[in-house]
Amino acid sequence: MAHVEPAQLAELALRNAAPTDTDAEALRHIERCDRCRDDLRMLTRVVTAARAAHLVDLPAAPPERVWQRITRDLSQEPDPPRPPPALPDHAKRALLLAALALTASTGIAALRRSRQERSAVRERT
Ligand SMILES: [Zn+2]
Repeated sequence: MAHVEPAQLAELALRNAAPTDTDAEALRHIERCDRCRDDLRMLTRVVTAARAAHLVDLPAAPPERVWQRITRDLSQEPDPPRPPPALPDHAKRALLLAALALTASTGIAALRRSRQERSAVRERT
């Protein structure tokens, strides 16, 4: 089996779904492959840190007075614009986890590309 795709490593780190046959095959590969094991370990650390984050750490909508001041400064319209509806806490957490997983999988892909380029250079020399 080729190395485990970053997206699947992210799914394994998140552990949101019941394991599939593909997951079992990936886990068998990970047991034997240092590179994939290191990648999964790093992603699991990112997910653990994200899940431990407190909601106060997440960006929040600005207070109402900010919208009122923007409205007063920019227009003469009597009704201030309404702020976007607040996301429920679970949606914020899911967005944060998805962003972290995407960032981590992008980083892993870049790391793999860098490793491949370095080994290609070594083979040429
Ligand atoms: Zn591997």
